[in-house]
Amino acid sequence: MAENNQEREVRAIVVPVTPFQQNCSIMWCIETKMGAIFDPGGDLENILQAVEEHEITIEKILITHAHLDHAGGAHELSQKLNVPIEGPHKEDLFLMESLAKQGEKFGLNNAKSFKTNRYLNNGDEVKIGNQILGVRHCPGHTPGHIIFFHEKAKLAVVGDVIFQGSIGRSDLPRGNHEELVNSIVRELWPLGDEMTFIPGHGPLSTFGQERLTNPYVSDFALGIEREISQKVKDQENNNH
Ligand SMILES: [Zn+2]
Ligand SMILES: [Zn+2]
Repeated sequence: MAENNQEREVRAIVVPVTPFQQNCSIMWCIETKMGAIFDPGGDLENILQAVEEHEITIEKILITHAHLDHAGGAHELSQKLNVPIEGPHKEDLFLMESLAKQGEKFGLNNAKSFKTNRYLNNGDEVKIGNQILGVRHCPGHTPGHIIFFHEKAKLAVVGDVIFQGSIGRSDLPRGNHEELVNSIVRELWPLGDEMTFIPGHGPLSTFGQERLTNPYVSDFALGIEREISQKVKDQENNNH
């Protein structure tokens, strides 16, 4: 039991929200049951129901980037729960200010613009209960996109930077494909092959898995040569 807790300082669940099926996630410190809601794009009732089911006390809202499906419900939820918002990086301010307009365009009339209590930068740390999450700035999908990770639990929340088998779009305002690929290689890969990530859409994966098989950013696609750890190879073999 004690051993188990040692390995699992945090726990996370995913609640898909909005017509975009965005992976809103809730992560909490197992010891204190204090938690954070990541990217509440909308469907706040579903999010709050999950919070209640797991008996978590939410202490903050964390935002990876200010697209509608990720941040459209942030303002309302922060008011409802009376908790602060942290993130994204300040380069996403132009999107934060235009959220209501983005909402009108897609028929999501509840979407509201929001202000953050704390912009986050590369290398910043965020607290959830007694646990610390690291922050990395990963521009390319949006200029102010950040990701969060828990070092020991090997769990990351990466928004629309990378998906299982794909990467984020770079054809939206101020997107940049080359910058996105650089962000992935420079900021995500050093976090380790075994890091499991919750993407903004679709199923979970690990960085090691994507370095083997992702058509956009695998080591093969990018011409990166390295020794792949046996553990990742085994994982890959088991999947086939
Ligand atoms: Zn996005
Ligand atoms: Zn998205």
